[in-house]
Amino acid sequence: MGNSAFVIGGKTALSICGADIERSLGENDISCCLELFQGVSSRKEIRRLSELAASRGANIIIALGGGASIDAAKAVSHEMNLPVIVVPTTVATDAPCSALSVVYSEDGVFESYLPLRRNPDCVLVDTTIIAHSPAKFLVAGMGDAVAGYWESGTCARSGKANAFCGGQTPTLAVLALAQRCYETLLESGRQAKLAVEKKLVTPAVEAIVEANTLLSGLSSENGGHAGAHSIHNGLTILPATRQKLHGEKVAFGLLAQLVMEGRPASDIREVQAFCCSVGLPVCLEELNLPNPSLAEIRQVAETAVAEGETIHATWFPVTARMVEAAIWTADALGVDYKKAHGC
Ligand SMILES: [Zn+2]
Repeated sequence: MGNSAFVIGGKTALSICGADIERSLGENDISCCLELFQGVSSRKEIRRLSELAASRGANIIIALGGGASIDAAKAVSHEMNLPVIVVPTTVATDAPCSALSVVYSEDGVFESYLPLRRNPDCVLVDTTIIAHSPAKFLVAGMGDAVAGYWESGTCARSGKANAFCGGQTPTLAVLALAQRCYETLLESGRQAKLAVEKKLVTPAVEAIVEANTLLSGLSSENGGHAGAHSIHNGLTILPATRQKLHGEKVAFGLLAQLVMEGRPASDIREVQAFCCSVGLPVCLEELNLPNPSLAEIRQVAETAVAEGETIHATWFPVTARMVEAAIWTADALGVDYKKAHGC
């Protein structure tokens, strides 16, 4: 086996965490030097933390918390060319493993993707910590992860550029990973959610933690994104959706993507059934949009097809009208499904 120790390097760390972690450490009388993340992975916040890292002579960055603080910390490590250790306390997105940070405006509107020089140097996930975090984060992570199989499938079918991997089309290995991720979600998703609601760790929880972080991260950054993430980006322009987590909007974005792509009804029902079983949104009302106007949804659709959006990895040209029609139809199908199945 040899020597299993590995060295990342760095003696002075800038540790970045969210307010909830700071509170929890205080409640448990644990004192350590942490820098409080201001809540949004914005250019201003990334600059502030980078300047702080420079002024303290930090030579390693440690990210503790959820997706937003991890995105900001990874961006700081990129700006400063320093190693980063990621310690997720929730698994609500595939941010922990990916070589990408999402940058938002200060009031939380999607702005851009920041491709990073490399993946995080170390990702440490303690499933007991995950089991003690609110189940809604685990569920949102499943919403982000469930899209990977379909989005990478779209990129493979179109042979178009994967926005996150230097324009490569997905390899067979990546498609196999994405499929394993999808099967794991369908197989273990509900059981894992129920276990985490009771703060328990079971093999299903371990499997979903791996699916939400490693499998989802690998499949999305090597398989590519498509419609689901673009529709998510479009939804972020409506302030009412900002209370909803990334993965919740991606899950509904996926349902709209499947409609827009003309996928078989059985595929759409399979994803709806999964979403309902774990509590992910299947209609607009569940995204805090009980009564959106035509103009609002048109604006979402127009944003989703902006130049550079991953929706253009679809195997046919996509217009705002198509997305608009798909969003309204996915919503109606979702309302129908809920009525029929009582979820
Ligand atoms: Zn995502």
